[in-house]
Amino acid sequence: MDAKTYPVTRTDAEWRALLTPEQYQVMRNHGTERPGSCALLYEKRAGTFTCAGCDQPLFESKLKFESGTGWPSFNDPVEGSVENTVDRSYGMVRTECHCARCGSHLGHVFPDGPPPTGLRYCINGVALNFEPAT
Ligand SMILES: [Zn+2]
Repeated sequence: MDAKTYPVTRTDAEWRALLTPEQYQVMRNHGTERPGSCALLYEKRAGTFTCAGCDQPLFESKLKFESGTGWPSFNDPVEGSVENTVDRSYGMVRTECHCARCGSHLGHVFPDGPPPTGLRYCINGVALNFEPAT
């Protein structure tokens, strides 16, 4: 993914200054937070989840659902905000998803979600900020 240029680009030092160590590990090193570790998992208010790396709106809370996995799960991203790539790490073939604006890793997409899309976006909560609807 480093070969691609995103609308928002930062140097490694800039990312380290902007993000917490945990965010950096997840978003720039394709890490995964511990299941159930993020408070956003329990966010039930209406609002918008934005990228912690560039503030782009990624998911709307009405499309969030409780998957029981321990990670915030969404059905459908804001159109055009998320890109997918095939992730062959750890001996598995998974669909990785990242922010289309800054390229930060967000989580993975699985084909076992509820209707209408049938997709489950399994997202690391640290990669998101929540803005309650006003
Ligand atoms: Zn972003």
